[in-house]
Amino acid sequence: GRAAAQDYDFFFLVLQWPGSYCDTKQSCCYPKSGKPAADFGIHGLWPNRNDGTYPQNCNPNDEFDPSKVRCDPILLLALVSSWSPCRCCSGSACLRLLGFRSRVTLTHWQVSDLMSSLRAKWPTLACPSSDGLTFWGHEWDKHGTCASDIFDEHSYFQAALSLRDQLGVLSALTSAGVNPDGGYYTLGQIKGAIQQGTGFLPFVECNRDESGNSQLYQLYFCINASGDSFIECPVSPGGRACGNRIEFPAF
Ligand code: 5GP
Ligand code: 5GP
Ligand code: 5GP
Repeated sequence: GRAAAQDYDFFFLVLQWPGSYCDTKQSCCYPKSGKPAADFGIHGLWPNRNDGTYPQNCNPNDEFDPSKVRCDPILLLALVSSWSPCRCCSGSACLRLLGFRSRVTLTHWQVSDLMSSLRAKWPTLACPSSDGLTFWGHEWDKHGTCASDIFDEHSYFQAALSLRDQLGVLSALTSAGVNPDGGYYTLGQIKGAIQQGTGFLPFVECNRDESGNSQLYQLYFCINASGDSFIECPVSPGGRACGNRIEFPAF
């Protein structure tokens, strides 16, 4: 069918510090694949309007389909034949047959190569432990389906992963001496380090550790409506303020 008209103006790319998700009264659970890296993970890529409102759960007919982020079909194909995957991409695949590379178009399954990247860069930390599909499914259903004018499920996850990688937030922070070591930093130190290292100024959201200290929880970056470049944020997100003494807990 025809794509719906765009009902949003930009995206928030929301990253979470796993140490701060876990260091709360509620605690957390590692995903079934094991403890994620001590790095910022994705929470979501959220279409948003300039007035601060946002669409959600836009298409119940396009609910999350795990086969679109999995690579299983290719691996299965490789197992039952002498083919081996050299690359996965959306809609087609490059396979190696007897040493020759050939391009195969896949119509039945949308080829997906995203599971291992999602596990590493979009880990779920909610309890009980899960494989991540629940979290990713929630984000696609609630937010991704509202950007179906530019993304299908596969390209939505691919875009979020690629945008996160472009930032390199953790190295921006550590290069400026803002380390996840349980120490305290000012909001200016945190924002300055990220602006200096990534070129973009995020909104910083804090939560509270078990003792009630404010800690660095989420970072909100803004992306244009085409979903491909960082912009200055048109509006602040909701989300709890930090105060000026902010813990950066280890993970
Ligand atoms: P949102 O804030 O996108 O509506 O909600 C996030 C949902 O995903 C919540 O229901 C939360 O329990 C679940 N969830 C699963 N894993 C995570 C995680 O690692 N971080 C956050 N923030 N939510 C998670
Ligand atoms: P979700 O389950 O609804 O809608 O989560 C509601 C709120 O609780 C969100 O802010 C989410 O991040 C948080 N949350 C949900 N599950 C967990 C958990 O296992 N550990 C922590 N620390 N927070 C959670
Ligand atoms: P919380 O109340 O925990 O901050 O947010 C709950 C959920 O509402 C988030 O996980 C997210 O799905 C959605 N949400 C909260 N604030 C915003 C926002 O400013 N923009 C968008 N697009 N979604 C938001």
